Amino acid sequence: MSLNLVTLLYLVASVCFIQALKGLSHPTTSIRGNLFGMSGMAIAAVTTGALIWKLAGTPLGLGWVLLGLVVGGGYGAWRAKTVEMTKMPELVAFFHSMIGLAAVFIAIAAVAEPSALEHGLAKGEAIPTGNRLELFLGAAIGAITFSGSVIAFGKLSGTYKFRLFKGAPVQFAGQHMVNLVLGLAMLGCGVAFIATESPVAFGVMVALSFVLGVLIIIPIGGADMPVVVSMLNSYSGWAAAGIGFSLNNPMLIIAGSLVGSSGAILSYIMCKAMNRSFFSVILGGFGAEPGTAAAGAAEARPVKSGSADDAAFILGNAESVIIVPGYGLAVARAQHAVKELAAKLTHKGISVKYAIHPVAGRMPGHMNVLLAEAEVPYDQVFEMDEINGEFGQADVAIILGANDVVNPAALTKGSPIYGMPILEAYKAKTVIVNKRSMAAGYAGLDNELFYMDKTMMVFGDAKKVVEDMLKAVE
Ligand code: NDP
Repeated sequence: MSLNLVTLLYLVASVCFIQALKGLSHPTTSIRGNLFGMSGMAIAAVTTGALIWKLAGTPLGLGWVLLGLVVGGGYGAWRAKTVEMTKMPELVAFFHSMIGLAAVFIAIAAVAEPSALEHGLAKGEAIPTGNRLELFLGAAIGAITFSGSVIAFGKLSGTYKFRLFKGAPVQFAGQHMVNLVLGLAMLGCGVAFIATESPVAFGVMVALSFVLGVLIIIPIGGADMPVVVSMLNSYSGWAAAGIGFSLNNPMLIIAGSLVGSSGAILSYIMCKAMNRSFFSVILGGFGAEPGTAAAGAAEARPVKSGSADDAAFILGNAESVIIVPGYGLAVARAQHAVKELAAKLTHKGISVKYAIHPVAGRMPGHMNVLLAEAEVPYDQVFEMDEINGEFGQADVAIILGANDVVNPAALTKGSPIYGMPILEAYKAKTVIVNKRSMAAGYAGLDNELFYMDKTMMVFGDAKKVVEDMLKAVE
């Protein structure tokens, strides 16, 4: 395969990736976007394999690459196929950590044996200064991405006893000063490596970056995890781009930059949606009030509760209903039952709309994917800004397994989620809330909405409750 053909195929793959991002920006075009992404990745992988074959000249080199593709690709395909929808964010964090680690390994290999990786370099020859800078950036960002993603994985899964993997922020006195000193020391080692090509400086720089990744993510509380995931996504892209420069691989540079910039834009959009400062989050919760995120556990106060039949009666007599899906709906896999309930209500002439909060669920777009899976008509699904003005006129807001995204505590100064925009379900004439207990949501806060006079709690698993409502709606 000639180098011109390689360049052309890389260009085709890059165009596929851009089309993939464009397609993924809307549910109706997302399948096409995914197909573009898969085609682009297939073209890129086959072309790179052929390039390695040409450069390595031995079947052994290509054999290692194929082995990596089969083992890594096989494991990835199996995990993606078997993962539950609610565990998706952990899987994404795991994938990011692998990208970061791959970048670190490639950089270590390049520093240990420059002639094997740096194109046109003779054995024993020094790595050019520009390439050292690229190696420094790729390795540092890759190491931060790896260890930060491991912490994010633990916090998202919420199943480990290890303190650093708990949702509540880990904060200590002088934390930002420690981060600053370590960050400066890491930069200093990076500069020393660029100036002297010292493998020791490189090693210390990588070790400090691993530590920094942990320190940056531990002070970030549960409610900010969506931003962290997309931010780490962005970091993993930049790490890949940095290594792409070192390997002289335009495909890696383009794909890495696309991931890096789209992840950064998504992080920014999510910060806006949660009223968080972008820089505060990327600098490890800088400016956050210490120890607030886990405050306010559920209190034992009386609430009004009813059965699924009661809820069905209220729904059946309404003229307009807004459904607010949340994480609990995903856990219960109740989306198909909800769609049938909505269809039955619509058939009775009731207006039914779904209200989607940007961070409902456990990853960006979680609710849109769930509803799309159940084939909910797109024209019934509304983003927060589009629907918030309608809650005031709605007869019923029915909240299914959602909590933080409808918590009016966000309007109260001093609350850990103060300023986070919420779905204004509390404005509806009647509010029905389905969850299993009075337990708090992801941010660990009690929810005043549950105690309002116009609110009726319907306790139970979302799927069972919605199915019972479906049967009971006349
Ligand atoms: P929450 O986690 O705030 O609330 C979900 C509620 O669902 C819980 O209170 C739980 O109460 C209930 N629930 C759980 N299982 C079931 C079930 N089987 N049937 C019925 N109810 C159930 O979710 P939201 O969607 O409101 O908010 C998302 C939160 O997650 C936000 O804090 C957000 O910042 C965070 N987050 C979002 C990410 C994203 O990108 N979207 C990523 C990571 C975190 P009970 O136990 O009583 O049933």
